[in-house]
Amino acid sequence: MLVFSYNVGCRNCFRGDGIQHTFTILDSNETEYTYTTEYEGMNIVEEVRRENDITCQFCNSDNVEVFDISVDNYRLYDYERLADTYSFGELHSFFMINIDKEGNTIELSTGGNLNLRAEFLEEALKKMLIIVRERPIDNFKLHQKGNFLMCVSGGYDFDKNRYIIQVEKFRTVGLSIREITKGIESLALKYNIEIPDDPF
Ligand SMILES: [Zn+2]
Repeated sequence: MLVFSYNVGCRNCFRGDGIQHTFTILDSNETEYTYTTEYEGMNIVEEVRRENDITCQFCNSDNVEVFDISVDNYRLYDYERLADTYSFGELHSFFMINIDKEGNTIELSTGGNLNLRAEFLEEALKKMLIIVRERPIDNFKLHQKGNFLMCVSGGYDFDKNRYIIQVEKFRTVGLSIREITKGIESLALKYNIEIPDDPF
């Protein structure tokens, strides 16, 4: 038995209920979810909410973001833990983008390892663009205020000669796809990384 817990915020009416929601998976292999990323956990929670028609209690929208996900009280996303795990740097790295929007002002900040290799950053930024384009379009419902936070990690695969990237965390509220991709592209420019027009 596994207990998932999470918080919600509505992308439609911009409200959260402040309640920690939980559900239990009875028939599961315990180890299967313990070391999952929050992004994988988020997809599991979204699926469970869809199957059970759980919607925002204020506006009844199903366009709700889920975050702060724990499995049996183990937080799936923990920036400090990632910083410890990837403290050795180059062959195993993590990288985070945060975009805050307040009216006409968009502010971008980054986190992760300091000594990132260009090859890692290229794969990381490509992965971010891919995920942004894969997500349901209503994830990007536009508001005056918004936040986008994405964290990825990866290790170098010597067989494939490239970094294999996994998504640790994904959150978006209030921003358009264009606003987000512009932010990611500006980073590519800053780090002098060329992202093909079609990285997919
Ligand atoms: Zn709502």
